[in-house]
Amino acid sequence: MSNFADRKSPMGRSLRHLWRLVALLAFAVTFDDAVPSQQDSWAEPRAAMVRTIQTHAAFLPEAAGTDGISTTVLDVIGKVPRHQFVPEGVEGQAYADAPLPIGYGQTISQPFIVALMTHLIRTSPDSTVLEIGTGSGYQAAVLSPLVKAVCTIEIVPGLGETAIRRLKELRYDNVQTKVGDGYFGWPECGPFDGILVTAAAGHVPPPLVKQLKPGGRMLVPVGSVFGPQFLTLVEKTRGGQITTRQLLPVSFVPLTRESR
Ligand code: SAH
Repeated sequence: MSNFADRKSPMGRSLRHLWRLVALLAFAVTFDDAVPSQQDSWAEPRAAMVRTIQTHAAFLPEAAGTDGISTTVLDVIGKVPRHQFVPEGVEGQAYADAPLPIGYGQTISQPFIVALMTHLIRTSPDSTVLEIGTGSGYQAAVLSPLVKAVCTIEIVPGLGETAIRRLKELRYDNVQTKVGDGYFGWPECGPFDGILVTAAAGHVPPPLVKQLKPGGRMLVPVGSVFGPQFLTLVEKTRGGQITTRQLLPVSFVPLTRESR
């Protein structure tokens, strides 16, 4: 005679396997509840960083606008995992409101500046935006959910290739990245509703002005490496006229040029 629990019967073996599976699943669920996920452990530092950005925004000079930074932009900053855009070993500082080294003598920009520039170009869901200076890819990731398409150019191949891989892995699918000299822009990707230059230029690059749509806005830090730099707003009116305005003093790494 045999019953369900008979160790040797096929039915008994299946039942024991089933119980093992149930026990394993129960353990997995309990374990998952007990240990906060890695994602969650960054949520509070990221929220604190957003609060710091809001505080800084309250002290902006009038030329940069007195309406603070939009909640749409702050919501995105509150979601993008900046710790995944910094080199291994510095993740712990990723949510300080500060620039951080990313290798090759370059830096990931200060989150406040990323938020401010994103706010000031006035993105819309159907806009196409160009970024010069991909660096880590963080600024492109912040733009990604706010616009239709992001085109970004990085001159240092090692940084550009890492950013391409990272943005793909993190599924920022509307970002196109290429390695090259951003001074010349990317005509095939444009024309652009907005352009962000995230390295300091000696002058506003004329090819970028040309690739800006009528009604478009460009932000570019203008100045020298050791001298003063000003974040400059370049606007192209609907009629095609260009106006420029210095908004606030900033400190960016220099826009370098490809040796040709
Ligand atoms: N936006 C980046 C940080 C920018 S740091 C981020 O979110 O991480 C400035 C970047 O501009 C550096 O990576 C630097 O290599 C790049 N750069 C400098 N000159 C450039 C040029 N002519 N064309 C494209 N990228 C340039």
